[in-house]
Amino acid sequence: MPFTTFGFAPALINELANQNYSQPYPIQQQAIPAILNRKDVLGIAPTGSGKTASYVLPILTNLQGNTESKNRHVNVLVLVPTRELALQVREVFRVFSSVLPERVKSLPVYGGVSINPQMKALQGVNVLVATPGRLLELVESNAVHLSNIETLVLDEADKMLNLGFKEEMNHIFEFLPKKRQNLLFSATLSEDVDNINQMLLHNPLVIKIEEKSDNLDLINQFAYSVSDENKGPLLRYLIKSKELKQLLVFTSSVYKADNVADKLRKNGIDAVAIHSKKSQGARTDALGRFKSGKLKVLVATDLLSRGIDIEFLPCVINYELPRSPKDYVHRIGRTGRAENPGEAISFITEEDQYHFKIIQKKMGKRATKIDSSEIDLKGY
Ligand code: AMP
Repeated sequence: MPFTTFGFAPALINELANQNYSQPYPIQQQAIPAILNRKDVLGIAPTGSGKTASYVLPILTNLQGNTESKNRHVNVLVLVPTRELALQVREVFRVFSSVLPERVKSLPVYGGVSINPQMKALQGVNVLVATPGRLLELVESNAVHLSNIETLVLDEADKMLNLGFKEEMNHIFEFLPKKRQNLLFSATLSEDVDNINQMLLHNPLVIKIEEKSDNLDLINQFAYSVSDENKGPLLRYLIKSKELKQLLVFTSSVYKADNVADKLRKNGIDAVAIHSKKSQGARTDALGRFKSGKLKVLVATDLLSRGIDIEFLPCVINYELPRSPKDYVHRIGRTGRAENPGEAISFITEEDQYHFKIIQKKMGKRATKIDSSEIDLKGY
């Protein structure tokens, strides 16, 4: 099924080709016609499956002929759990809107930055991509009105409910009109997501895209057994010997992320840490530089393990293992995306052995074992 079957504007079809979208992904094949028909959708789909475009393209199409600015009344509200995801989703709206006969104005809003510029920018916005807390602040100060919302999207709904956004979400629902289209996307179907589904969705089309095992097949996984004190030298050895151009390193704590990035810099390797204690400006700047290939190593906490899309990222290293197998899959899923192969390396200490066995069992895949004591780390 090609993209031309959806009745999209010719300019949009061209832009899809420019962006190397040759065929709709499975979630897009199912979601796009339903959303164009104003149906509710529940999409259970892993990140990397193309779910963003599955709602952005039909929403932009449905808005054609309906983009006249209505004084701070937005048409479409997309709720996301993190600022990074707000920026990323908005970028997809911006790119595809820019070629349409009628431009659709979109705006990302999130906390941690000054509210005034966002208040000013809200004039004439059609699509608002927001994190819940900042959205409520804007609604309560009358900077935006939600009573004309035609379509509500909850992206990464499982994450939003996990993070304890529940109260804020319930508050937001009170401002929305009863009659609207609801689109709910989640990587996993938890009890919370199911409750929200029952509460929000009317006769939805339910789409279930399994975590493709061949998605994981695109990722070569390696497990280096290593002692705690040799992790730093091993990391530097890998960066230098593999000539990695771009590398995402995951740690389990903010402290460790800073610590690893500091040590890399002291050793002449361009690295920046990104985590919840950094200012929004610093986070956006680091991610932007990393995505464009100007920054070599990004050291991150699990803040970056979900949803964030980095084109052609060749390698992810788990400097420390995440606690849950699910987070492991999310982390390594930052590579091997959109059908490009990638490499995921995990540092396994003696204490991690058992936990890593469980991770591999849950994932249904085994990483290739490498004993780092056989590597000469002197000088690294
Ligand atoms: P998402 O799951 O929305 O984060 O998308 C994952 C990646 O797949 C992004 O880099 C998209 O640009 C890319 N993508 C989405 N749909 C397609 C498609 N039909 N063909 C090729 N790439 C796509």
